[in-house]
Amino acid sequence: MTKLRVGILGATGTVGQRMLELLEEHPQFVVTALAASDRSQGKPYAEACAWRLPGDFPPSARRLIVREPEPPLDCDVVFSSLPTEVAGPVETRFARAGYPVVSNSAAHRLDDEVPLLIPETNPEHLAVLDACRATGRGFIVTNPNCSAVMIALALTPLAQRFGVSAVVVTTLQALSGAGYPGVASLDITDNVVPFIANEEEKIERETRKILGRWNGDRVEPAAFPVSAQCHRVNVLDGHMAAVRVQLGRPAEPAELRAAFAAFSALPQQLRLPTAPAHPILVRDEPDRPQPRLDRDAERGMSVTVGRIAPDAVLGHRFVVVSHNTIRGGAGAAVLNAELLVARGYLGG
Ligand code: NAP
Repeated sequence: MTKLRVGILGATGTVGQRMLELLEEHPQFVVTALAASDRSQGKPYAEACAWRLPGDFPPSARRLIVREPEPPLDCDVVFSSLPTEVAGPVETRFARAGYPVVSNSAAHRLDDEVPLLIPETNPEHLAVLDACRATGRGFIVTNPNCSAVMIALALTPLAQRFGVSAVVVTTLQALSGAGYPGVASLDITDNVVPFIANEEEKIERETRKILGRWNGDRVEPAAFPVSAQCHRVNVLDGHMAAVRVQLGRPAEPAELRAAFAAFSALPQQLRLPTAPAHPILVRDEPDRPQPRLDRDAERGMSVTVGRIAPDAVLGHRFVVVSHNTIRGGAGAAVLNAELLVARGYLGG
């Protein structure tokens, strides 16, 4: 297969750098264009970007000149990790110009004509794109908020086996989730900040859309309530959520454990290049999962669940950890793009 040419919008940022890392030597994609703010435009990437991941710049990106994030761009598909307020109009302009847009940003996640996709959870929501495909226009596909991904992914086998009727989550979110430079060190050292702008609303709304039902015309959000409280903690990478869930029927903790551990879905069947062998890993030790120990599981693409126990209020509880810039960001976008290829929405 000829590799599809990718342009990354927001290429110098926290998620953009992860995208470049994941796309280096990817079997289906090659990065041919990079774009960022006017601070970076016109410079070779290695000059515009302070590389903040371990190791050096991906060799293929060093000399690419950073462009303005506007069409036309020298690529077949656009991956976007722009700040939300910039992403909204820019992604719309790319889609109108005929580009497929695979976005990390929140701007279009709740739009009716935009799938909010986790390939293991709701691949049928791609049907939303068929109307766009019929008219030959570009389209936008989004991945969820970095906490909503792990919460919705962990809830997927529970929703499938038992039904879900209420969810309460408390998150402990890593610093890299705020992008660079993120939270001031004087605010977060020796501290926890119980506020992340718009995050609680995103988790509550996005989880219901992701676990919603494609009715042949549109996605109906799941009917159950989701309540979220979010906290920024002094961890570099790896978000954690303590989840309490009311199920649709009685179940023992061992049944929940079995549902998590056995979970496998379309990306695993299709052997998508970025798909983890086990989307959900279960740890039985009483002090796991932990961000530092579990965020890199299966190259950062698996979420890790532990502390599965009865809950006196909602019936069941567990804790989930995932890598916020990989499964929660760049890796989620790359996996979405791989599913788009496998389903004939990209390339072909
Ligand atoms: P970031 O580190 O602040 O990077 C932002 C990127 O956007 C940089 O490349 C920056 O370019 C570019 N940019 C900023 N203002 C711009 C403008 N006016 N015009 C064009 N480009 C502009 O942010 P991030 O953490 O990577 O987040 C990017 C997006 O992904 C956000 O929408 C965020 O909500 C979402 N997201 C983040 C995470 C995470 O864990 N961090 C996870 C999932 C989703 P310059 O370097 O030139 O300024």
